[in-house]
Amino acid sequence: TRLANQIAAGEVVERPASVIKELIENSLDAGATRIDIEVDKGGHKRILVRDNGAGIPEQELQLALSRHATSKITSLDDLEQIISLGFRGEALASISAVARLTLSSKPAAQQQGWQARAEGRDMAVSLAPVAHPDGTSVDVVDLFFNTPARRKFLRTEKTEFAHIDEIVRRVALSRFDVAFSLKHNGKILRQYPQANNDQARDKRVALVCGGKVMESALKVQSEFQQLHLSGWLCTEPQSQNDIQYFYVNGRMMRDKLINHAIRQAFEGWLPPDTHPAFVLYLRLDAREVDVNVHPAKHEVRFHQSRMVHDFIYRALRDMLEQGVT
Ligand code: ADP
Ligand code: MG
Repeated sequence: TRLANQIAAGEVVERPASVIKELIENSLDAGATRIDIEVDKGGHKRILVRDNGAGIPEQELQLALSRHATSKITSLDDLEQIISLGFRGEALASISAVARLTLSSKPAAQQQGWQARAEGRDMAVSLAPVAHPDGTSVDVVDLFFNTPARRKFLRTEKTEFAHIDEIVRRVALSRFDVAFSLKHNGKILRQYPQANNDQARDKRVALVCGGKVMESALKVQSEFQQLHLSGWLCTEPQSQNDIQYFYVNGRMMRDKLINHAIRQAFEGWLPPDTHPAFVLYLRLDAREVDVNVHPAKHEVRFHQSRMVHDFIYRALRDMLEQGVT
């Protein structure tokens, strides 16, 4: 099963940033309101994600590290949702197949924290008591130590950290109710405090996207039938196209149709070879979208794609025409 785990791991664990993405998702699933991330050497040497979520009871720690050990499928609806999100119930098992993983946790109702470690070729799990605050820590050391082919694909420390930073940015823009911090090589580089009001949310967007960019941003708020678009739209042309975040029902998407609508809205507003910057959230009835394309592609299919396209175009165009006179 070790080999099977390693094969499957290749699909979940592409690079340090993909480990972090999975660990953050787990922390969010556990209801965390604070997630602290520490990485060393671009995450290659070490990744530590600590949360203040529900924790894992001692008797479930071992299970959490085993394949298909999800505790999250409770109904058929869930199952469909989970399948559409990709390979579920195997992130921890996959990561522990290609790194030295230590899982420490303490549910609030438990007196003592416990630590589980997957060890050796058979992935036997050893358990030991540990001092730990309420919540969970996942410590991932020496990623790909046993898979040289994967290790070879890792880029420079700087590049891997840039990927991690981007993952944290994406999630920080989708969960204002959760505080995040990100440390690299012992230095705190990002701190996003909980943002539970408009002013605090503006501040987080400025922190995540850069203050300059968001200073002039227009606040988007538009509704049509069941469609709802909100967020920030920057009217200053950008030389890069990296500050472009679009969420559909809370999930980040990079989608042709959406991009087309936005580009069209900006037609005539931006000089050639410049790009808009935006952080936008589209909400619509979940039955109006399919996201069961490959989870890593961030694509979405709208049942009424023309209507969605035109709604986004109209909403942004109106904003631009009213906002910049
Ligand atoms: P999945 O998230 O798809 O269920 P994972 O391998 O990512 O699969 O996690 C396995 C299980 O371990 C989860 O279902 C959950 O019960 C538990 N778990 C993992 N991380 C955390 C965490 N940060 N807090 C609480 N429970 C966790
Ligand atoms: Mg998971």
